[in-house]
Amino acid sequence: MNPQEAWNAAFYQLELQFDRASFDTWLRGSVYLSFEDGVFVIGARNTYAREMLQHRLYRNVRRILSDVYGDSVEVRFEVHKPEPVAKSASADMPLFRLLAEQEETESYGSSSLHEHISRPQHPDLPESELNPRFMFERFVANKANRMTLEAAMAVAENPASTYNPLLLYGGVGLGKTHLLQAIAHVCQSKGMRVLYIPSEAFTNDLIHAIRQRSTAMFREKYRSTDVLLVDDIQFISGKESTQEEFFHTFNALYTFNKQVILASDRHPRELKTLEDRLRSRFEGGLVVDVQPPEYETRIAILNMWANERGIELPDSVVQMMAERAQSNIRSLEGVFNQVVAKAHLTTRPLSLQSAQSVLERFERPRQHGRRPTLEQVVAAAAKHHSLPADDLTGKKRTQAINTARQIAMYLARELTDASLSQIGDTFGRSHTTVIHGCNKVEADLGSDPALKTAIAAVRNMVLGG
Ligand code: ADP
Ligand code: MG
Repeated sequence: MNPQEAWNAAFYQLELQFDRASFDTWLRGSVYLSFEDGVFVIGARNTYAREMLQHRLYRNVRRILSDVYGDSVEVRFEVHKPEPVAKSASADMPLFRLLAEQEETESYGSSSLHEHISRPQHPDLPESELNPRFMFERFVANKANRMTLEAAMAVAENPASTYNPLLLYGGVGLGKTHLLQAIAHVCQSKGMRVLYIPSEAFTNDLIHAIRQRSTAMFREKYRSTDVLLVDDIQFISGKESTQEEFFHTFNALYTFNKQVILASDRHPRELKTLEDRLRSRFEGGLVVDVQPPEYETRIAILNMWANERGIELPDSVVQMMAERAQSNIRSLEGVFNQVVAKAHLTTRPLSLQSAQSVLERFERPRQHGRRPTLEQVVAAAAKHHSLPADDLTGKKRTQAINTARQIAMYLARELTDASLSQIGDTFGRSHTTVIHGCNKVEADLGSDPALKTAIAAVRNMVLGG
């Protein structure tokens, strides 16, 4: 058997030995280059694959090659084709070396290696769980958002060929997640590998991977997607290792002409603690904003929702709701849900009066006819405790931050029309954590006068007192 044939046979065995994703990511495209002095030189598809082969699969490949060649051989991997973006190859190195070294100190027998690679992904992440309601068909365009919607649709139609990356930014509840997932739905239906993930989950996943020493799997997972959508990317600012890893992920995907789509609550320019190299990557694609809906759009959205649920609402009620919830569509949803709950209780068409009285009760503390927003509550709670607002919505857990965070959650329930899961989203926590926080505040109120005073002060601040 000549060396070329030996490689072909070994390659075939490797294909049988690995699961498809691992094989596709690391081995597919590897070619025989030369054989001299007992050393096989194998060409890998890119730097990433080469590193992976050299550091993780080396022993395995060498053993199989030796077996089929019938003699103990050495093997060396080279990058076969230079990557189109030279910079990403070198920029990819430092963190990689660090992690590769960490991994090299562990010894893998071939069976444990196989186990290691094909271990299933951790099931506890909310990634790629797409909301079936977030489709383009259910997104009502307003004049100001026409271009944003068109950009999103263009990317969904032809990923990686129009705008890459595409970054949507805008305030809370304006439809960013809806648009991101609408793109994801379209791409998924075309059979592409799509990964939608909130940036917080990306961070958690990375931490998990480093702890479990499964960074290779982490990378394989993110780099083998055709379309990567990262929501609420503002949460990675200030987090160094997440930013670094995301930078490499971004480059790897970009290099292979894969689509990256991001959503942020601010323009990247305004993300103060975002690394410049990421900022310039983000701004290198198309950056478009999502605007609050005009009155007519709010009416159209309300009518769509009522239609979907088979509920008839008098125009006067719809108009009244559209007037009440002006700032964003999430609060419009809150208003709508309250009124619909009431409408279900009566058999006659809902009167304007009874709709109004529902909202009156629901909107208890009102300021200039508008409910406070979640951001206002978080900002006030942070300010009262002399903390940056980011601390409350972030992961830190000092005593002071925990207290301020629980107060913010408690008052968010009382003062805003945000749902539990919306509050949870804002704090990067589950809705059960929010319930727990609110219950704790409730329980402590009686015995803790300082807490009572703090809550009253924050409430006053929010209500403009
Ligand atoms: P964001 O991610 O910007 O905070 P979301 O995408 O979560 O906001 O939107 C909040 C809610 O409003 C969702 O239920 C979404 O379906 C709805 N929504 C937002 N914009 C529109 C729109 N233009 N048409 C229909 N529904 C919308
Ligand atoms: Mg969102």
